[in-house]
Amino acid sequence: MKEQVAVIGLEMHCELKSNSKVFSFARNAYDETPNVNIAPLDMAFPGTLPVVNKKCVEDALKMSMILNCSQPKYMYFDRKNYYYPDLPKGYQITQMSEPVGINGKIEIEVEGKLVPVEIHDIHLEEDSASLDHYFDTSTIDYNRAGVPLLELVTEPCLHNASEAVAFLEHIRDVYRYCGISEADTKKGQIRCDVNVSIKDIDAKELGTRVEIKNVNSFSGVRDAINYEIKRQTELKKQGRYDEVSQDTRRWDEEKMETVHMRSKVDAIDYKYFVEPNIPKYKISKEWLEELRRQIPRLHLERKYDYINNYGLSAYDAGILVKEKDIADYFEECLKLKIDAKVASNWITTQILGYLNKEGLSINDIFINPKRLKDLVDLINDGTISSKQAKEIFMKAMEEKQEIKTYVSSDNAQLSDRDELIKIIDDIISNSPNQVEQYKAGRTNLFDYFVGQVMKNTRGKANPVLTKEILNEKLNN
Ligand code: ADP
Ligand code: MG
Repeated sequence: MKEQVAVIGLEMHCELKSNSKVFSFARNAYDETPNVNIAPLDMAFPGTLPVVNKKCVEDALKMSMILNCSQPKYMYFDRKNYYYPDLPKGYQITQMSEPVGINGKIEIEVEGKLVPVEIHDIHLEEDSASLDHYFDTSTIDYNRAGVPLLELVTEPCLHNASEAVAFLEHIRDVYRYCGISEADTKKGQIRCDVNVSIKDIDAKELGTRVEIKNVNSFSGVRDAINYEIKRQTELKKQGRYDEVSQDTRRWDEEKMETVHMRSKVDAIDYKYFVEPNIPKYKISKEWLEELRRQIPRLHLERKYDYINNYGLSAYDAGILVKEKDIADYFEECLKLKIDAKVASNWITTQILGYLNKEGLSINDIFINPKRLKDLVDLINDGTISSKQAKEIFMKAMEEKQEIKTYVSSDNAQLSDRDELIKIIDDIISNSPNQVEQYKAGRTNLFDYFVGQVMKNTRGKANPVLTKEILNEKLNN
């Protein structure tokens, strides 16, 4: 058998953040109590009409632009007709003929390399209710019915599980940067359909694809892809490739395997037509430009900026851009003229360590960029040592007093040259033996003198200056 390569296409559903649902006034919020966030429309009561949520449309257009898609001239929706208990209207309002974005292309980073990903389309639609199945009953929760969803469909252009997961993480971060969605898989806000096929390495045509429905974690996506590539390759090796047949499967997290659900051969005809209760409306150039201005600088662009223009390591830059608030904090530090590497060090070690320990977000902490600047300035002008700075940092975080209140004559570093010379002269004249031995070649006694200075000054002597003066005194 020839060498096989995998081909993967993703359909990524993400719930959007908004006050109300996409076509009704019901609250868009997760609630432990079922069936509390419902408007008559979500239950398909007769006589109800959809009203489009402007914020959702605007967020969808922003995503379309971020993905470098082209946008339609008019915004409108289609009906996708099918019956299921989680869909009381008997149809889903979605976008089929003119999605909010088509033919996009972006670059993502996979293990340090940029990889292009082609976007087939992105469209705005409503979520269905959620069904829970028990031993002999099922329950329906309509809280989710009508929650805004963006579905992003890639071309079959990904080649392994790492690329697929990197893509999902990239898009998740974009959603968060733009405040369009929390994009939290733990809250079920992201669900993916994963399409996998294999083909001979030199084959022009794609192989038969299998669709794995509703995978709800990124590790699930990774495992499902790896499992499916192996399963299909094995079948092909055994001459049973026809068994791969257009199959719809699901990922069984416990058994760690994909399981057959239904055959895709008889494609369902959804009898799509334009949703008649929502008028078409024009997407003007001005509107798009206004929305484009609201898109913040995204993580990958910032990361390369930090690496190329501020000399940070890819690793540190990666940590800084993980969350927009942290990247914003870092950039605020740059504006205040804190050295980039110094700021990066403080953020990636001291600050993130503190945030993790206390479970806080960077906007909630007392040491804002301005106060960090005060602290760094004190180190730079030799008033305090970096060890002292770390202590002051912790104290100020807890006690919320301005940095300068922690710098008294008590804990200030001793950097006065004349005072240090006096102390060092005393030590030298009181240690004639050590001086003699040092001059005879026992150079490791140098540390003995440093130690004496520290002892005399209770650790406050500026170490650089101390060594400098000792050098002058002992080696001349
Ligand atoms: P459907 O609407 O039935 O899900 P689509 O044609 O819209 O089918 O394709 C959905 C997804 O399947 C897309 O993400 C696409 O990239 C992917 N896909 C299509 N053909 C293949 C294939 N041969 N191998 C892997 N993925 C594929
Ligand atoms: Mg599909």
